Amino acid sequence: MIDDFVSLFFPRYCLGCSGSLAKDEQQVCIHCLTNIPKTKSHEEETNFVAQKFYGKIKFDHALAFFTFQQEGIVQKLLHQIKYNNQPQLAFELGERYAIELSKRFEPIPFDLIIPVPLHFKKRKIRGYNQSEMFADGLASRWNIPVKAMALERKIFTTTQTSKTRIERWKNVESIFTIKDDSVLDQHILLVDDVITTGSTIEACAAALLEGGAKTLSVAAIAAAK
Ligand SMILES: [Zn+2]
Repeated sequence: MIDDFVSLFFPRYCLGCSGSLAKDEQQVCIHCLTNIPKTKSHEEETNFVAQKFYGKIKFDHALAFFTFQQEGIVQKLLHQIKYNNQPQLAFELGERYAIELSKRFEPIPFDLIIPVPLHFKKRKIRGYNQSEMFADGLASRWNIPVKAMALERKIFTTTQTSKTRIERWKNVESIFTIKDDSVLDQHILLVDDVITTGSTIEACAAALLEGGAKTLSVAAIAAAK
């Protein structure tokens, strides 16, 4: 009754299509969630996300919820998360993806979830790390710890798009360091918002494996084909 009253005067809108949200919908409407292209990477081990990392890092599973498309709804949602102060959306997508993945993994094989860190200055400006919010959403369903401070990003990175693959790799190669020994002998789920070239994940993975992680898996909100 009070909810109906509130939604009459303060209607909430879907962050994907701007349509009004039903009472039981959070930030994205069911129509959008149904129609967003999914990678189905958890159903097929040799998926296009995994193919980005073959021969580059040693990993167990490579997973992404959505297929990234320029100008598509996934890009719009990622924009909301990164630039429009919508950390709750990243959390909701984490919760939803955890439910999806629980259908494939029983039990959940990961010991620890580690989000790709932002440089502390960037985190301060944004107020949150979107990958950490996604990690928190996953963790809330699985009851697995998130260690947001296990990795540190040491320097600001410049824009990656105009560089070659080698240049991109050199740019991120040495910017991540391990902060403590919490990764030792653990199966780490390394979490990012979007995977494009995969070079950021590669650099984080190198640091985690060097730091003694037993196994590594990767998950993202979206990945580009
Ligand atoms: Zn919608």
